[in-house]
Amino acid sequence: MSGVFGVSRTKKQDVAKLAYYAAFALQHRGQETCGIAVNDQGVFKTYKDVGLATDVLDKEALRRLGEGQMAIGQNLYGTKIQVNRFNAQPMTINHIKGTLALGMDGAIVNASRLRKELELKGVIFHSVSEAEILSGQLIQARLEASSMEEAVLETMSKLRGAYSFVLMTPQKLIGVRDPYGVRPLCIGKLDDGYVISSESCAVVAVGGEFVRDVRPGEVVVIEDGELTSYTDYCNDKPKALCSFEYIYFARPDSVVEGNGIHETRMNLGKLLAKAHPVDADVVIGVPDSGLNAAMGYATESGIPYGIGFLKNKYIGRSFIAPEMEERELLVRIKLNAISSTVKDKRVIVVDDSIVRGVTSARFIRILREAGAKEIHVRSSAPPFIDECFYGTDIDSPETLISRHHSEEEIAEMIGADSVAFLPVEELIKAVKKPCPGLCDACFTANYPIDPSPAKEPMAKQVLQRLHDGD
Ligand code: AMP
Repeated sequence: MSGVFGVSRTKKQDVAKLAYYAAFALQHRGQETCGIAVNDQGVFKTYKDVGLATDVLDKEALRRLGEGQMAIGQNLYGTKIQVNRFNAQPMTINHIKGTLALGMDGAIVNASRLRKELELKGVIFHSVSEAEILSGQLIQARLEASSMEEAVLETMSKLRGAYSFVLMTPQKLIGVRDPYGVRPLCIGKLDDGYVISSESCAVVAVGGEFVRDVRPGEVVVIEDGELTSYTDYCNDKPKALCSFEYIYFARPDSVVEGNGIHETRMNLGKLLAKAHPVDADVVIGVPDSGLNAAMGYATESGIPYGIGFLKNKYIGRSFIAPEMEERELLVRIKLNAISSTVKDKRVIVVDDSIVRGVTSARFIRILREAGAKEIHVRSSAPPFIDECFYGTDIDSPETLISRHHSEEEIAEMIGADSVAFLPVEELIKAVKKPCPGLCDACFTANYPIDPSPAKEPMAKQVLQRLHDGD
């Protein structure tokens, strides 16, 4: 997952600043790279680099971006090989019919096939970014099409995967969500224009009014203050919003498909308490992502909610990390227990998820040292057992602790008195408003979009080549 944002106004204004506020509001969706492209009557300026919004987009960068009618921004979440300036977005590309800037969230399953197809036509790539492949495909389609929206619709017929993207042409701001609706995207209104954003929290951050979600498969085009919707790919296919958006990714003040994230996480905690009750003195949450579910667990169980941890908010990239032998210190610097909450108590500690189990082993050690008598770990996500091909990065499925171990074994491995996960069939019950449907492939291995192209040797070869610096 990543964060994307676009703004289109009818008059020339300081749109870079709005995109900066949005990048700051969407920072939780990606911390690897950040960038903005501004469009002033068809003249594009782009600034992007490795780092957080506040590191990359300083006063000088915003001054250089200048004013315009439109801007897009992107925060990248990615694997190590993607973290360099070449992979940062927006991708801004000049082509025969004009200029295009693109920022993308998600993952295209058949990206390596699409890349190869372009390479065989002589297209040269500068990055390992799927956004560059998508841009290349759009430009190829635009050569034949009469408009960029037609090129977008043509390209969508070739794309397999989970994608939400914002695209800027000299005249138009375009927002696209894949037909399964795996990644979120929404529309907001300004007094003189529109914004498109991964999450509603950024619409609020720029002073806009939330209008609605972009429908799965929908293409929205904003030109001269007017919004046009193309619904060619809004079909009856099962919808599959990533359940991790509700569990972990999205910000608690955002609303996705009509469901408030905080409220949904509270519901997950309540369902978890019903499914896995245990006698205890206090319920605490792991900051920040476990707090909402912990509150739900406490509400449902009637066990008091306590603040069990202090998380230091000021650790950024500039923090001088301890040397290897002092590594354990870093954990204490980031997170510490509040001993008066946990000392001599039976503690239920709720986290949003247990992926490899490294984080839980650490916070359990901290709680034990602070004097907790019993520690019962509860995860508001079901057991994470398989790979995600739609944008959630994990090292290898073999590192997933639930893939090969039972709850009892995990408890022993991480040093807890008990461990329990939300049963996967409970997940959908936390979502109150009629949600089009959830993707739970990482918990069930039922993939709504065929992942086989991503598993092909060719896909691995492309990655290997890029990894070797070719
Ligand atoms: P671990 O079990 O040590 O791999 O880490 C689990 C923790 O990582 C959870 O507490 C989550 O808050 C966080 N987390 C869950 N999913 C992701 C993800 N896709 N990317 C980064 N962090 C995640």
